[in-house]
This record gives sequence, C-alpha cells and structure tokens, in this order.
Amino acid sequence: LISKLPHIGTTIFTVMSKMATDAEAINLSQGFPGFGADPILLDLVAKYTKGGFNQYSPMSGIPALRSILAEKTKLTQGYLPDQETEVTIVSGATEAIFCAVTAVVREGDEVIVLEPAYDSYEPAISLNKGVPIYVPLNSGNFSVDWEKVKDAISPKTRAIMVNSPHNPSGYVWTLSDVNQLAELIREKNIYVISDEVYEHITFDGKTHCSLGAHPELREKTFVCGSFGKSFHVTGWKIGYCLAPAALTSEFRKIHQYVTFSTVTPIQFALAEYLEVPDRYLSIPEFYQKKRDLFAKGLAETELEFIPSSGSFFQLASYGHLSKISDRELAEKMTKELRVACIPISVFYSDKKDDKIIRFCFAKEEAELEEALNRLKNLS
Ligand code: PMP
Ligand code: GLN
Repeated sequence: LISKLPHIGTTIFTVMSKMATDAEAINLSQGFPGFGADPILLDLVAKYTKGGFNQYSPMSGIPALRSILAEKTKLTQGYLPDQETEVTIVSGATEAIFCAVTAVVREGDEVIVLEPAYDSYEPAISLNKGVPIYVPLNSGNFSVDWEKVKDAISPKTRAIMVNSPHNPSGYVWTLSDVNQLAELIREKNIYVISDEVYEHITFDGKTHCSLGAHPELREKTFVCGSFGKSFHVTGWKIGYCLAPAALTSEFRKIHQYVTFSTVTPIQFALAEYLEVPDRYLSIPEFYQKKRDLFAKGLAETELEFIPSSGSFFQLASYGHLSKISDRELAEKMTKELRVACIPISVFYSDKKDDKIIRFCFAKEEAELEEALNRLKNLS
C-alpha cells in the first residue's frame, strides 16, 4: 500500500498516554478530564438507553439537541442558528473539522494554518490534496500576527483554520482578532474552519468570541464544537458544526458518509441537560480554580510560564534549565519524575523546538498537587 500520509506517525496523544501508563506516571499529557461527569448527565444517559433510544438518530442530529444548541448559541453568542439548516450534530469536533475541510478544500487549494496547531488539521488538508500554508503565532503569548496572515493570503487561499481558545497555548482571541480576520478575508472566496472546542473554558474574565457571532464571518465559517470538552466526557466523541445553510448542506453530504449520525441516547441526554444554562455558564469558574491552583504550584518550580487564558492547558518553558529536546524532556519527565506532558514541537510543521511543554490541568486537586510536588524536582 502506498501511504497517503507518509509523513504521519502515531499521534502524540496516543504515544504519551501509553508512556504515562507504562511508567505509572501522572498523565498530564493527552487532554482529558481526570474526573467524572455530572451524575445528572449520567442518569440521563441511563434514562435514554434504558428507555429504548438506541437506534440511528436523524443524520443531522435529533431535533431537540439541535434546537437547544441553537438556543445556547443565542444565549452565549447572541445569534440564533437555524436548527434545521445550520446545526449538525457529529461524532466529535474532529469529525466536524474533517468534514468542513473536505467540503471546501480541493486539489491545490491553500489553507492557512496558524501554528502551533492541533494535529488533526494537517492530515485533513493533505487527504484533500490541499496545501497547508503555515503562519507562526507570536512567540510569548501566541497571539496572531495579522500582518503575517495577510502576507500568507494568495489567490489560491481557500480556507483558514482558526482555534480559540487555543490548544496548546490557551490564547483567547479578542474582538480585535475577530475583526481583523473579517477585514482580511472580506470579499474573498475564503472559508473559515473555526475550532471552538474550548468555548466554555476561559479565565480571568475573558470571554470567548465565536466567529459565528460576527455577522460577516458567520456567512463563511464552520464553527466546530465538542460536548466532550465542556461536560468532561471526551470519550463520548460528540460535537457539532454550525454553518450557514449552503455550507451545512455540503458539510452534511460528507458527514452522512463518514459516520451518518452519532450516538442517539447521548444526544437525548445532552438535549435535556442543556436545558439548564448554568450547566455550561458555570464551567469557567470550575476551571479557573484548577488553572489558579496549577499556576500557583508551577510558580514554585523552576519552569517559566505565562498563565493560560483559556482551554485546560498550560504551557511551560524549560530552555533555561536544559538543552535537551522537548520530546526527550517529555520522555524523561514521564519515566523519571513520573509526570507526563506533551512536547509542543509536534504542533509545528517543521517540529520547531522552543523548549516548551504542555500540561493538562483538567485533573482533581489532589492529582494536580502530587504532580506539582514531583515537578519541584525538575532542575
Ligand atoms: N480541536 C482541539 C483544539 C482539541 O484540543 C480537540 C481535543 N480533543 C479536538 C479538536 C477534538 O475534539 P473531539 O474530541 O470532540 O473530537
Ligand atoms: N485534544 C486532546 C489534546 O490536545 C487530545 C485528543 C486526542 O487524543 N485525539 O490533548
């Protein structure tokens, strides 16, 4: 078989989680919560599985979930997507991103990718014979360099991948970022694939500006979201795509042959769960405590960092302590200190190694404290 992705190996999340398990390390590498979901949500899943809601759902998702998701969008982002034509429930944001890229990218089309970037974007672009054009985020806080984005746009640009709150840096787009993007692509045939999986995880009073909330961008954007991230159930692989009717129609043509639909009883459970807005409005406060605890503890180690503004990740620099590569450090930390992390060079097309590692702080306090204790021995 001639590989269609010869440059791709096993994703770093699988590699590091396995290493963590083998070394019996605290796993702060792959991003997943170390605590359970709300028992109310679990009871709802039991109610709907036992109640017989176990066959295929409609291809676009059950109406109740599309409807409550549209209402949530109205409440949090100020606009109401049409539940029939603009909302699709899918098997995780990964599927949403893949289907959105597949809907718009043709052979030779250029797709702007701001890096460091989540690792599923490039394979989706490559499988569609698109050409990723990488634009580095600013060093330091990982904000967007809009001049560089402008310079990267060409007549072949078909799409731009954006991600806020950003994995791995935690940078949260400001309204000015959103406006600058709108201005740059005005009257151009460029679509936006907006990965907003950490929409509810922002800190220090910052709020998430969905690209869908911008009337002009909404017309060209696929907003990709994930219930897994918001409700501590990453293993459920359920997410959504919000896009204008014409884009949704093309998106669904692909979704219907990638997965057709996603897990029915969980859609019913989420639809009922989302009826109480506090269940998502309280997420920032919940994670702020963890971000604060982790940042406070990290300040007592030799690592250097800027506190994360969003997502459940915290970056830290170690270049002043050691010259070994970030991959080697991640391996050494996992096996010797028994704390696993992600080396962020993997999120760069050229594997640029700025000696930065990523921790996931979506863990119970006791686990975070034990990890921080171990990290104090890093020197
Ligand atoms: N995008 C980003 C930035 C992520 O961190 C993740 C993490 N899982 C995903 C997409 C995928 O989300 P899902 O698990 O819903 O497919
Ligand atoms: N999004 C998660 C992370 O960044 C991992 C998801 C996965 O393992 N595919 O860690």
